[in-house]
Amino acid sequence: MKLIIASGNKHKIYEIKKILGEKFDEIVSMKEEGIFHETVEDGETFLENAEKKAREIAEISGCATLADDSGICAHALGGAPGIYSARFSGDHGDDEKNNDLLLEKLKDKSDRTAHYTCAMVICFPNGELVSCEGYMYGEITTERHGSGGFGYDPIFRPEGEVRTVGEMTDEEKNKISHRAKALWGLLEKLQKRESH
Ligand code: IMP
Repeated sequence: MKLIIASGNKHKIYEIKKILGEKFDEIVSMKEEGIFHETVEDGETFLENAEKKAREIAEISGCATLADDSGICAHALGGAPGIYSARFSGDHGDDEKNNDLLLEKLKDKSDRTAHYTCAMVICFPNGELVSCEGYMYGEITTERHGSGGFGYDPIFRPEGEVRTVGEMTDEEKNKISHRAKALWGLLEKLQKRESH
């Protein structure tokens, strides 16, 4: 079976292929499949947004489709920015501004704990959904460290680590990330589904 990834992010595609590669005959991005569809992410949770993306692309393509939605939740801010992580400061995907705003909002807070969430959903051609969430817990530092990763990585230090994710290699991040954990959980569910 062919799996379409509802994303154009090369890092995500590499990671998905590495973990789910054995389960599908072929894994291709939406772009490679010639699909240029923008899903309106108007869900209230990571899972709702990922499900909507997976469903829409599966309907358009007629193929099994994997979609994800992710973000960071600061506990002292009631879980913000959460599903609005990419556009926290207003401009979609402006990592610099988003990091500045999160640092500013946490300036006077004693609780700097936070977690990343990733929801991964596969929608099969018959409409069946298989989903899993993964988390990475840690805290927001008071200033940026490192330039690796993307998004909030330079200001996020995972639990039990002295470095931020921005100071880690991709390989180190992929051993502990919310995205990898969601994918491992998804793989387990796919294996159980097959054995039934
Ligand atoms: P998306 O689900 O890939 O669109 O991610 C939404 C936003 O969440 C990104 O723009 C980042 O701001 C943030 N985010 C999600 N995952 C990560 C991560 O692994 N590192 C840093 N930021 C992340």
